[in-house]
Amino acid sequence: MPGTVTASMLYNFVQCPHRVSLDLYGNPADRDPVSVFVQLLWEKGNAFEQEVIRDLKIPFTDLSSFRGEKKEAATSEAMRRRDALIYSGRIRAGELVGEPDLLRRQNNGYVAGDIKSGAGEEGASDLEEGKPKKHYAVQLALYTDILEKIGMSGGRCPFVWDVHGKEITYDLEALQGNRKAATLWSIYQEVLSQVISINSGIEQTLPAYAGVCKLCHWRTVCMNAILRANDLTLVPELGRSKRDAMLAYVRTVSELAHIDINSLLRGNKSVIPNIGPETLLKFQTRARLQVKPDAEPFLTEPAALPGSALEIFFDIETDPMRDVCYLHGFTERRNQDNCTETYYPFFAEEPTPEEEERAFAGSWQYIRSSRPCVIYYYSKYERTIWRKLQKKYPHVATEQEIEDLFSPEQSVDLYFDVVQRKTVWPTRDHSIKTLAIYLGFAWRDTDPSGASSIEWYHRWVETKDGSIRKRILEYNEDDCIATRILLDGIRKLKVQG
Ligand code: SF4
Repeated sequence: MPGTVTASMLYNFVQCPHRVSLDLYGNPADRDPVSVFVQLLWEKGNAFEQEVIRDLKIPFTDLSSFRGEKKEAATSEAMRRRDALIYSGRIRAGELVGEPDLLRRQNNGYVAGDIKSGAGEEGASDLEEGKPKKHYAVQLALYTDILEKIGMSGGRCPFVWDVHGKEITYDLEALQGNRKAATLWSIYQEVLSQVISINSGIEQTLPAYAGVCKLCHWRTVCMNAILRANDLTLVPELGRSKRDAMLAYVRTVSELAHIDINSLLRGNKSVIPNIGPETLLKFQTRARLQVKPDAEPFLTEPAALPGSALEIFFDIETDPMRDVCYLHGFTERRNQDNCTETYYPFFAEEPTPEEEERAFAGSWQYIRSSRPCVIYYYSKYERTIWRKLQKKYPHVATEQEIEDLFSPEQSVDLYFDVVQRKTVWPTRDHSIKTLAIYLGFAWRDTDPSGASSIEWYHRWVETKDGSIRKRILEYNEDDCIATRILLDGIRKLKVQG
């Protein structure tokens, strides 16, 4: 309902501002069914919260049976009584409403906390591990803001209880990353002010073609609108923020394909904020391929692809809900002969550290015994996860061994090193699925995706049904083969100026 601002609105805004608009003002009948993966996320999240609360060894006030205004009144009452820990409360200050999982008495006030069935911090960065998750931070900051406004705050240090049983403090005043003087609190304030503008109908938003759309219940509505508008986000990697910056100068893929780029330059600088002349040219080249009938992909410069009699195509599957890497898959090929292709999976039969370690150790042993070889993978994710696994299980491999494995002499990140930097495709994105399908590959599964694989893994763990295990492995094997298809496709591309 327009009027109130909730933590889930802030969470959704971080994923996509248009999601907030459509949830408020879109026609509910136009929504797609909630994806099986999103349902799984909800179920697992609820089950995990129940488990944590059931096993809690300290006394707490349970308000989970209350709803709406009664929950709010019961929470105020519990805080007035100075209860030490309140579970499932509801707090409000004006239009801001929050339902933190926990409110804990601290510093003569309260700090809020959420129970999350995932890792409490972002671990996906190569160089910086343990960054706060922005979508968690804005929710926690909203609770803190409300507590401050009602005079009940115990400080800007809310917390998350995560899937590993750890308490992670979110220091809202700590400076973040490279952004000068940005704190989680200032990020929250920016997000809040935009959500309030959307909520009151002042700010209009547009859909943008992005990976996050796959799991969104507005995907059909938005995709139709994006296609109708010939929206600029249909150009690979030209996302929402660049599109928004470009709209005053160029509105569609077709316009971008045909515009004289010089008209967007003043001297040697672009008139579009934060998008330089080279980036403009890159996007124009991509747009031109999209509008040209029968366009062919090409290389913008020669791509050095190391040769080896043994090529290994590598892909992993991880479950963010359990923070576990459950499968390392390798398809090897000898002398570029596809008939020699063999798949080697290393599967964690259970989502336990023992099984995760066993699968990691088996994979590492496989790589070591396969040398000399060259390894192809798609995106930095494999490297990120292997670095993380090395830290978790340091006796499996040394840090240096993992660094060497992902060095350019031994491995090629086909996405980062080749596709993104040196190729142009007449496609809307550069995902391995899109490119391999463009090159004629078809996955055996009818619903191939990383999200589906996670859902299957959960069902495998619950049922131990061998057909589900087979489905997981086949999907991973097809991902490995798709990487090989892409490599072969790239080898055939011609260089164009
Ligand atoms: S489908 Fe995509 S653009 Fe549309 S609301 Fe969802 S995430 Fe946003």
